[in-house]
Amino acid sequence: MPTTPADPMSPRRPVRRVVIAGGGTAGWMVAACLSKTLGRLLDIRLVESDEIGTVGVGEATIPTLLTFHHLLGINEQEFMAATQATFKLGISFEGWRDVGEDYIHSFGVTGTDHWTAGFQHFWLKGRERGLATEYGDYCLELRAAQEHRFAHLPRAGMNYAFHLDATLYGAYLRRLSEGHGVQRVEGRIADVLMHDADGSGADVPPRDRDIRALRLQDGTQIEGDLFIDCTGMRSLLLGQALGVGYQDWSHWLPCDSAIALQTASVRDAVPYTRSIAHPWGWQWQIPLQHRVGNGVVFSSRHTDDDTAQSALLGNIQGEVLTKPRVIRFKPGQRDVVWKRNCVGIGLASGFLEPLESTSIHLIQRSAIRLMQMFPKDGIRSSDVDEYNAQMAHELEHIRDFIILHYHVTNRSDSPMWRDLRAMAVPASLRHRLDLFRETARVFRVPNELFTENSWIQVMLGQGIAPEQFHPTADLMGDEELARFLGDMRERIEHTVRQLPSHEAYVRKYGAGM
Ligand code: FAD
Repeated sequence: MPTTPADPMSPRRPVRRVVIAGGGTAGWMVAACLSKTLGRLLDIRLVESDEIGTVGVGEATIPTLLTFHHLLGINEQEFMAATQATFKLGISFEGWRDVGEDYIHSFGVTGTDHWTAGFQHFWLKGRERGLATEYGDYCLELRAAQEHRFAHLPRAGMNYAFHLDATLYGAYLRRLSEGHGVQRVEGRIADVLMHDADGSGADVPPRDRDIRALRLQDGTQIEGDLFIDCTGMRSLLLGQALGVGYQDWSHWLPCDSAIALQTASVRDAVPYTRSIAHPWGWQWQIPLQHRVGNGVVFSSRHTDDDTAQSALLGNIQGEVLTKPRVIRFKPGQRDVVWKRNCVGIGLASGFLEPLESTSIHLIQRSAIRLMQMFPKDGIRSSDVDEYNAQMAHELEHIRDFIILHYHVTNRSDSPMWRDLRAMAVPASLRHRLDLFRETARVFRVPNELFTENSWIQVMLGQGIAPEQFHPTADLMGDEELARFLGDMRERIEHTVRQLPSHEAYVRKYGAGM
């Protein structure tokens, strides 16, 4: 649709100068993506402050990062050596379903589907007839994770992601971005300066105008046409200067605090993230080549910093390399993530919590989406609306998936878990849970991150027992079903036995050799 001169997005300002505020994982991922894609057309500057630093966590990723690296032309071995990365095949959820009960949410595909019915229906029938073992036994990645094995397999036969050192990743992406012409400016942003008018002739308050420049503490002004707010939880541009509100989701997601520290490695790196539930939150362990990232995430309504820190220190191995650092956050999302000539990406746009490692994924989705909707001769409100709608839609499904882990549990050992079991969940999640419980069916919606298999693994893992399975599974007699399940398991076990240990593979491949 053509825009008129009265369009509040000031379409007559072409976008040539892009200013990225902030150089954490978000800032440098956006810089790398933008410079690699449109760098020759744009003047890209990134402002960051060494004095302020980055949040310094965010080390577990999901397989979509491979797509991002492919778009950037990143060499995997070079990247792994530069970031001390290891492979990740899933997340081990320990004590989430109940104290002492564990399961793995892996990145693989479990079993083989029929077009009318997913594999879970055949597995459920197998369980009923005493013919099937654990659901995870029919997933290659999950079995490889349990056996601490890994190798690249032909035809992308293994789905994986990485554990990486966030600081080294930022430095790596910085080198890439600067190689593509991004200019880094060191300095502390003191002010966000707005245009005098909004371009429509109307008298509007500053927060409803476009941003004109960032003024640094030394007085330098960095002017731009498009500003990307990657200033972390401060959200200096989107939240503070443009006044975009924040939707607080703490009534669904209880955790609002974290304590992080690093330890020396004392054992072989496992190819999965450990997520260990506590009465008031959970703990992560992320093994890298050179060290282990550790932390607790907790609800400040249900415990205090000292209790959480003692639990963390009491449940780690290896020499502690860094001082414990407390991080506060508010689970939720900004009302919109693109307003006028400013797009918020990373923590500046919101944060759910670290469970399921979706934050870096959302940064890359934001960056790719921005590339797809990159303005040519001025920012159009139709693009802005579409971008905001797509991001909100995608985030709601991720939010539901995370809430699932907290709500569907048999734990009743502490006030936090009792509250979470009893809470009202979003209608979209309620429907999924009811559908699975009653029929064992799951349907992935367009543009949704998590696959059917992820939902099934976590719903079964958290303790939902579907009441029935699809009639197609009844077409198989016991003998045929036993053969179908048995052959599949044997094929997987055969492959897993041939894989090298994850540690040995990383030592060779991940060190760049
Ligand atoms: P930051 O790292 O905070 O960077 C902000 C940047 O803005 C810095 O460069 C800073 O210097 C700059 N800045 C701020 N103010 C100014 C100013 N006034 N002037 C100049 N510069 C300024 N995500 C995952 O995907 N996987 C995980 O396992 C994971 N674990 C997490 C664990 C915890 C406890 C937390 C809190 C988050 C976790 N995340 C995880 C999220 C992940 O850490 C972030 O998404 C990611 O690090 C991006 O952060 P950022 O770049 O938005 O912000």
